[in-house]
Amino acid sequence: MLPDVYHRTDVPMRTGVGKVPPYKTHRHTLYGQQEGHCAGCKHHFPFRNLTTDHIVARSKCGTDDLDNLQLLCGACNSMKGTMHQAAFLARLKRAGIGQ
Ligand SMILES: [Zn+2]
Repeated sequence: MLPDVYHRTDVPMRTGVGKVPPYKTHRHTLYGQQEGHCAGCKHHFPFRNLTTDHIVARSKCGTDDLDNLQLLCGACNSMKGTMHQAAFLARLKRAGIGQ
């Protein structure tokens, strides 16, 4: 005996794709969460001086979700590049930054 086979004629579609808002829209939320402090050096910056960084770089399959984003000042962001977050924090610590 064969089990009943359900044959779908419609094409299944992924539903979660394209629903994440552009990552830059999270800047204000992140600025509030971090209270205006850079996530690297911990210095306080005006809103316009903090840039949105992907904790896991998009080139390494990081997403645009809020929990993968942080605000960094220009100096920290260029230092981090596509570096892993743990390596970035270790480098800051070695340089005595953000303690
Ligand atoms: Zn910084």
